[in-house]
Amino acid sequence: MQANNLYDIKWVLTQIEQVSQFSQDNAGITRLAFTPADHQARNYIISLMQASGLTVHIDAIGNIIGRFLPEGIDTDSSPAVATGSHLDTVPSGGKYDGVLGIVCGLAAINRLKSCSDIRHPLEVIVFAAKESSRFNLPTIGSKAMAGLVTAATLNAIKDQDGIALSAELAAIGFQTKQISTANRSKNSIKDFVELHIEQGQVLEQGRIRIGIVDKVSAPTRLKIIVLGTAGHSGVAPIEERQDALVSAAMIILAIRNIAAEYEYQGAVATVTILKTYPGTINVIPGKVEMWVDIRGTEHESIIEILQEIKDAVSSIADDYNTPIAIEVLSSEKPVLLDDTINQIMEAACCKLKQTSVRLDSRVGHDAMNIAHIAPAGVVLIPCKDGISYNACKEVAPDDIAAGLDVLTEILYQLAK
Ligand SMILES: [Zn+2]
Repeated sequence: MQANNLYDIKWVLTQIEQVSQFSQDNAGITRLAFTPADHQARNYIISLMQASGLTVHIDAIGNIIGRFLPEGIDTDSSPAVATGSHLDTVPSGGKYDGVLGIVCGLAAINRLKSCSDIRHPLEVIVFAAKESSRFNLPTIGSKAMAGLVTAATLNAIKDQDGIALSAELAAIGFQTKQISTANRSKNSIKDFVELHIEQGQVLEQGRIRIGIVDKVSAPTRLKIIVLGTAGHSGVAPIEERQDALVSAAMIILAIRNIAAEYEYQGAVATVTILKTYPGTINVIPGKVEMWVDIRGTEHESIIEILQEIKDAVSSIADDYNTPIAIEVLSSEKPVLLDDTINQIMEAACCKLKQTSVRLDSRVGHDAMNIAHIAPAGVVLIPCKDGISYNACKEVAPDDIAAGLDVLTEILYQLAK
């Protein structure tokens, strides 16, 4: 399954460039889930799947599944070896995030189609709505595929403009009450491997080509509401104010300090969104909403961080006389990926003479949900400065070539 096929790499780079043109604006790539730009990218990938001779199925949450069935293989008795990733992005995201795994997955399947010893169907999956940027819940498509989300939860999801996820699904012909049909059984997928850019700096700084993920951290999200008293900013004496934004500022610093304390345990916490009300220049903020993202590879550390945040918030509420409520929006557990697949990955790197390292990922991936129904792995390649949620990020063609070679070899070993 040797690569070094210049045509393949050129094809992969061309397709990534093509997909990057589907964006809501010009500041990086903005392709929020189920927006017109996302649909354009999805349709483009569907056309590539069809051109590659794959059968295409779209499930009830909008996951796109392209499948190659080798001659003489029975779908019912032979589970698929699958790869894939996502097409939606964060606002002003990077060009390679997600799409790399889909396009390389397609290229890998195209290479493997001519191998006579493939014994399983091969699938490339586009997971719907991976990023939480639009609907505040991450990896919705893979959650549905793994049976980790209910119709009731999906029915309650709306974006910041009040547009319901169910309405976006209805627009492409699906109803949330059908969601269970997206659920794959444990014997329909034999193995799943996702290729992704690292979004960290371990590989770049260590000059290592391939990262093999042992554990994927999962997010816990909080919404904190601070209540103060709105008043004229020129009149109310400083000491008598109940300024919700001052309390929020103390919370931000407290969370930053708690995060610094736990960072060595692979856990962090970040205040990512802050909204002040009434948001008028001459009025003391009477209410502040803030969103917090906590991540870690050890569930215990996340629980401890959460408790420390609760303690800090409670004491700030007392000190500044501003009642504060904390709502846990979502809480997921870190996921251990499959060690057998990881050993196959290491052997593939060895065979292809690519340097590799085992590491944990602080970024969530669809593979962490698929791990609930099938052995799953994540292969990482370096990206410049590790800043994947940034328009400036670049990925070296040589690294993409190595990633494609390793992915092809792993899929081959799993499917033969
Ligand atoms: Zn991604």
